[in-house]
Amino acid sequence: MGSQVRSRNGNARRKAVARLRAEGRPCWICEAFGRQSAIDYSLPARHPMSFECDELIPVSCGGSPTDPANLAATHRRCNEWRSNHSVEWVLARAAAARGAATARASTSRRWL
Ligand SMILES: [Zn+2]
Repeated sequence: MGSQVRSRNGNARRKAVARLRAEGRPCWICEAFGRQSAIDYSLPARHPMSFECDELIPVSCGGSPTDPANLAATHRRCNEWRSNHSVEWVLARAAAARGAATARASTSRRWL
């Protein structure tokens, strides 16, 4: 279903994706996790760290594939990891991971 919506809006979709690319946006998922979020836009499309256009509200859940407000850049790898989970799910995972990282850091400092 998603692919039909995308091809019906093919031109608008291409423009929206080109805009993300032109802006050189970082990966929003890596940003949430506090990781290195830069995307190398020159990587081939099948590379795990290459750019993909992600819909914050998935098209299958009624999100727009062409509205810039619903689109964000991700690494291919991160987009596959997210699948069609919600933004809230990603942010909760990120908060938990960052909390764990902080806890680990303070634990290791205790033994220095
Ligand atoms: Zn990423």
